[in-house]
Amino acid sequence: MNIGVLALQGDVREHLAALAESDVLARPVRRPEELADVDGLVIPGGESTAISKLAVSFGLLDPIRKRIADGMPVYGSCAGMIMLAGTVLDGRPDQESFHGIDMTVRRNAFGRQVDSFEASVEIDDIEGGPFHAVFIRAPWVEEIGGDVRVLGRVAEGAAAGRIVAVRQGNLLATAFHPELTGDLRVHRYFVEMVRQAAPVR
Ligand code: GLN
Repeated sequence: MNIGVLALQGDVREHLAALAESDVLARPVRRPEELADVDGLVIPGGESTAISKLAVSFGLLDPIRKRIADGMPVYGSCAGMIMLAGTVLDGRPDQESFHGIDMTVRRNAFGRQVDSFEASVEIDDIEGGPFHAVFIRAPWVEEIGGDVRVLGRVAEGAAAGRIVAVRQGNLLATAFHPELTGDLRVHRYFVEMVRQAAPVR
C-alpha cells in the first residue's frame, strides 16, 4: 500500500512524519507519474490558492480529479479540505479545486482577526475522546449534500456547532491540523480507509 502526500506547497513534511509514525512509508507526490503509483493521497494544509495554481502548472489538476472520481481515498486538512470542496466561498476567482466532496466551504471563515485558535472537536468514528484541534486561518463547511457525513463540529466558543470534519465515501476532510499536534488518530483512520480500498499488492 502506497500513500502519497501532495507536495506542491504546505505542511508536507508534517504529514509525511505523521504517516511514518502511523507505520506507513508515505511519499511526496509532485508529478502525474508519482500520483499513478499511490493508493491514497493526503492534501496538506497551506494555502489553497497556491496549491491550486501549482496543481495546474504541474499537470496534476485533472489527474487528481480523475483518481478521485475513480475512488482513490483522499484526506485533506485545512487548505486540503478546501481543495476537496465542490464549492469554495471567498476564494480567488481563478481558484480551482479537485472537487469530490459535495460541500460548500468558506475560506478563512473563523474571522481575519483570529489567525489561529484551538478548540475541542469530537470526531464520529474515532474513539479516545475529543481532539485538541488547531485551526489556522481555517475554513468551515457551510453546506453539505446528502451523501456527506458530518464527522465533527466545534464543541464550544463563538464557532460552536460549525462543521469542521466530514466524510463522503473515500474522501475525508478536516478544517484543523492533526498533523501538527502529534495526535495520530486521524492519520490512522485514513490509513485504514486506504487499506480497505487498496488492491492487494
Ligand atoms: N487559509 C488557507 C487557505 O485558504 C488555509 C490555511 C491552512 O491550511 N492552514 O487555503
